[in-house]
Amino acid sequence: MYTLPQNHHIHHAASIGHHNRRHNHHVVYCAATTPMKTRPKLEPLVINTTPLITPPKSDDPSLKSTWSHRAWVATGCTTVLASLASSIVGSYDSHIWVEPILSGFVGYLFADLGSGVYHWGIDNYGDASTPLVGSQIDAFQGHHKWPWTITKRQFANNLQALARVVTFTVLPMDIIFHDQPVISGFVGMASGCIMFSQQFHAWAHGTKSKLPPLVVALQDSGVLVSRSQHGAHHRPPYNNNYCIVSGVWNNLLDENKVFEALEMVIFFKFGLRPRSWSEPDSDWTEATEDSLITTSIP
Ligand SMILES: [Zn+2]
Ligand SMILES: [Zn+2]
Repeated sequence: MYTLPQNHHIHHAASIGHHNRRHNHHVVYCAATTPMKTRPKLEPLVINTTPLITPPKSDDPSLKSTWSHRAWVATGCTTVLASLASSIVGSYDSHIWVEPILSGFVGYLFADLGSGVYHWGIDNYGDASTPLVGSQIDAFQGHHKWPWTITKRQFANNLQALARVVTFTVLPMDIIFHDQPVISGFVGMASGCIMFSQQFHAWAHGTKSKLPPLVVALQDSGVLVSRSQHGAHHRPPYNNNYCIVSGVWNNLLDENKVFEALEMVIFFKFGLRPRSWSEPDSDWTEATEDSLITTSIP
């Protein structure tokens, strides 16, 4: 690496390269003069830094849906619809309706609880290098920093990660339980709500005037997670309101400190500290425009 002599003066340093999460270094050109009156030299100085963290712009390709995203969402929806169809056909054939409808409702409640447990887990443990869920952990950390970007993310881009999980878990269940209308009702509703939880989450970040009136009505009636409830997740102390389907479990879980108890168990058993214990720090604090000016030149 090129080192500047001590008596050199840096006249100009310009950082080039995009401030983008995909770049992990800056290239800085330094013009340095020496007492020997040599001409200023331009030498590239590569400074390795941690990945740059700036929010994606609204037209950033990382927010756009690709054909592979759309294909995964279509596959996920097909497996969910196959479950629901099995439940309806089975109910029609066996003339039982109450149990499959009830199991579907239980599936909807289960999805909210599942979304909370999963969200709590990836918010608090692991990092981008964690196997299987590393990209989800990274995405949620980015979401805490720039919550508004979720509203700019296209539909299939937002849902594709969960659509893959749903495809691989629900497809075998569709085959095994195709003649079990009660189980199919539960699986169809639970997996459908889990897959769409990221859409409900995006709506929770929406502005009331810009959301479809039906969505606002469903949020206000508690069928979908409300904007105010989820807004509390993005404010200190950053350790509550993890559920993002209906949010019906949030008060129960938070008032009884269920996640805090789990965090203590994990800490004493495995020595792992959840991220929420270190809050507020820069990881979870929403970035403002002023804090986005990054300087990495020492
Ligand atoms: Zn979160
Ligand atoms: Zn959010």
